Amino acid sequence: MKILVTGGMGFIGSHLVTRLLQEGHQVICLDNGYTGRRLNIQIHLDNPAFQLILQDVVDPLPAALEHSGIQQIYHLACPASPPHYQADPIRTIRTSVWGTYNLLQLAQKTGARFLLASTSEVYGDPLVHPQPEDYWGHVNPIGPRACYDESKRLAETLAFDWQRQHSIEIRVARIFNTYGPAMREDDGRVVSNFIVQALRGDPLTVYGDGSQTRSFCYVSDLVEGLVQLMKGSHTGPINLGNPNEFTILELAQQVLALTGSASVIAHHPLPEDDPKQRQPDIRKARTLLAWEPRVPLHEGLQLTIPYFRQRLGLG
Ligand code: NAD
Ligand code: UDP
Repeated sequence: MKILVTGGMGFIGSHLVTRLLQEGHQVICLDNGYTGRRLNIQIHLDNPAFQLILQDVVDPLPAALEHSGIQQIYHLACPASPPHYQADPIRTIRTSVWGTYNLLQLAQKTGARFLLASTSEVYGDPLVHPQPEDYWGHVNPIGPRACYDESKRLAETLAFDWQRQHSIEIRVARIFNTYGPAMREDDGRVVSNFIVQALRGDPLTVYGDGSQTRSFCYVSDLVEGLVQLMKGSHTGPINLGNPNEFTILELAQQVLALTGSASVIAHHPLPEDDPKQRQPDIRKARTLLAWEPRVPLHEGLQLTIPYFRQRLGLG
């Protein structure tokens, strides 16, 4: 198959590109390098089954894509880390909303199946725990996270309206906190921050008292979930994430233990609207996709730490 992956130079996108090439597909990666890196797809540049298009999803897409024979579109292009998506919130909204609009138009013109990488952030600071897909969420529409949360909600709306109005095939994945190799050292999300800080011997920056929770999914599990959702017959939205929930303080302690670091923990103010707890209800993914994550947190961290060690030039 010929498959378009937007955001393919990013953390999750680059793993997805590798996986699809390994399955024998032809892959077109469209990315503007905003938070992604060439390094993540460097190994594929000489592969004739791989094509890189450097461009912004907000700009008109190359007309050649309409006649390229693409059968699937994985739409991942969007900054995902709070410091990155909040650095230029209006740009984030343009990317998420206008970018999704452009890619849905391409899906309609090509007849390709369209998968949206949505997020657990559509649930906001949830009042229901764990979060099932039929929970409508608790999002502050005017806070600093809204540029991401609300624009992903609107991207979902666009996808469903495009399906209703133009009968295209859509798939919507609600991705929960995912981590692993290929994240940037300066990504700013908690797993990469803690590992980098521990390896450098810097204090681990725990925001607030560290009692807030997240459920961390290793990237290979997540990519498997995306591929199964795309292949299957269920539109979604479907939660993809690892339901094992940890406090941020527990994560810090695991990172310290696994790196053997003597770093101390330093508490910093909790960012505004930071969700207090988050855990995916994955019953839908289990029953409809026969999918569930396999890599527990300590194993995923053990697979991720050597990557960061190498990136930091520590061996
Ligand atoms: P990432 O920042 O590593 O990757 C995003 C990619 O999109 C980068 O390569 C970036 O250069 C590209 N991009 C950004 N804006 C663009 C634009 N305007 N035009 C073209 N390319 C653009 O983030 P990630 O963690 O790999 O996330 C990928 C997708 O998954 C995002 O849509 C994100 O919202 C979603 N997601 C991720 C997580 C997670 O925990 N990693 C959780 C929920 C949802
Ligand atoms: N966090 C933290 N220290 C950091 C980065 C993040 O304590 O250096 C906390 C953050 O406040 C949040 C959790 O870790 O409660 C997850 O943050 P991340 O930015 O990774 O993802 P998100 O908030 O989008 O789930």
